[in-house]
Parts: sequence; structure tokens; C-alpha cells
Amino acid sequence: ALSVDQAAAWMAKAAQLIEADADRLTDLDRQIGDADHGLNVRRGFREVATLDAADYPDAAAYLKKVGMTLVSKVGGASGPLYGTFFLRFAQALTGEGAGVVEALGAGIGGIQARGKAEAGEKTMLEALLPAYEAAQAHAGERMWDAVVAAAERGAEASVDMVATKGRASYLGERSRGTMDPGAASAVLILRAAREAMG
Ligand code: ADP
Ligand code: MG
Ligand code: MG
Repeated sequence: ALSVDQAAAWMAKAAQLIEADADRLTDLDRQIGDADHGLNVRRGFREVATLDAADYPDAAAYLKKVGMTLVSKVGGASGPLYGTFFLRFAQALTGEGAGVVEALGAGIGGIQARGKAEAGEKTMLEALLPAYEAAQAHAGERMWDAVVAAAERGAEASVDMVATKGRASYLGERSRGTMDPGAASAVLILRAAREAMG
């Protein structure tokens, strides 16, 4: 099972990667949105980074707090979506024998329940859904390498898509040609997971 220390290492690394790439995320959102995605997720993960894992009995309790923090601190679409991801992820960890792969699936399912998007709509799901498929196919050694590679390919594939959900959908055909900002940030969160758990 995932330890609270691993979960905290995941969040610390995610905060670090988002800090480093916040301007790139915001630039992507400037192309097809409202130029705040990097600011939004950075605000949220800065707050997450102030949580002390020692205050929580287990990874599930800690990641539940992470989810609530993201819901409350991140403005915009991505806050409730990433918040729901971590809330559902945490909830799944409390299930009988549930591991990280099951939790990943539950978290992504939460994003889909909340955002009503499917694959091909140019959202963060372009990175997350292939990542989950890779996790299921490669459970065991090198799983995280496969997960990150699939997420990167998925984010890259979002470039050629037309957005049909979220703010970028207002642009219609003009949303083509730019990577979805949320797909780009999802890659960072999964790279951080590889660092902490891989
Ligand atoms: P806002 O669009 O409110 O300014 P952000 O810029 O922080 O919020 O986040 C935008 C990202 O949110 C998009 O790039 C996309 O990945 C994601 N997103 C938006 N709507 C949805 C949805 N319905 N389902 C999944 N992801 C979505
Ligand atoms: Mg935005
Ligand atoms: Mg916004």
C-alpha cells in the first residue's frame, strides 16, 4: 500500500515540477483559454506543500486533505477536477486491498463524473486515460515509466484535437494546434508520482 511518506513525496515533487513549469502551463492556457492554468495549479500545490504529512495517520487521510485543499484553493475548472481526483484516489486507498492502480482509476473516474468529458475532447483526460490504461497493462516493475510515457504521448496527441469541453471549446476549430494545458499539468503530476513511487 501507499505510505503517507510516499504520498507526501509525490505531492512535494508535484509542487516542485509545477513551480518550474507554471509559466509554460499559463502560456498554453493563453493560447486557448484565459492564461491562468499555471497560476491556478501553482497556487493549489503551494498550499498542498504546506501540509505536514506527520499530521495524518495514513496516505488516504493525507490525500483527502490534498483534495480538499485543491478544491478550495484553485480557482477555475482545474481545481474541482484535480481536487476530485485526489479525493477519489484517497477514498479508493481505504478499500480492501486497493492499490495505487485502482486508486488512479478511481481518481480519473471522479474527474469524468465531475467534468462529463471523454477521451478526444482535448482535456486533462488525454494524458490521464492512456496513463491509467498503461498502469493496468504494466502493473509491476517499470509501471511508472509506462504510465508517464503514455501520458506524454496523450498530451502530445491533444495538440491536434479540437476542444469540446472547458473554456478552450469556445474557440472551436481554433483550439487546434496547442497542447491542452490540463493535459500538460497532468503529465507533471504523473512524473511526480513516478519519482515518489517508481
Ligand atoms: P479555467 O479553464 O476555468 O480557467 P484552468 O485554466 O485552471 O481553468 O484549467 C483548464 C483545464 O481544465 C483545461 O486545459 C482542461 O484540461 C481542464 N478541463 C476543463 N474542463 C474540463 C472537463 N469538463 N473535464 C476534464 N477536464 C477539463
Ligand atoms: Mg484557464
Ligand atoms: Mg480561469
